[in-house]
Amino acid sequence: MCVCCQELVYQPVTTDCFHNVCKSCLQRSFRAQVFTCPACRYDLGKSYTMVPNKVLQTLLDQFFPGYTKGR
Ligand SMILES: [Zn+2]
Ligand SMILES: [Zn+2]
Repeated sequence: MCVCCQELVYQPVTTDCFHNVCKSCLQRSFRAQVFTCPACRYDLGKSYTMVPNKVLQTLLDQFFPGYTKGR
């Protein structure tokens, strides 16, 4: 689950502190000049590169087929 949108993570980014946040949610936070993990306030740094966790995305797609529709 994503702490930002309270839904299943979409294009999950696994942060250095091992939280999973939607890429879009993290991007929104970064645009607001907030460079911390939304879950625990761990400082990710301005230049943090968001790499979607493909393995987790694949798993989520298998368990919840089509859940990304409407995003
Ligand atoms: Zn989210
Ligand atoms: Zn965190």
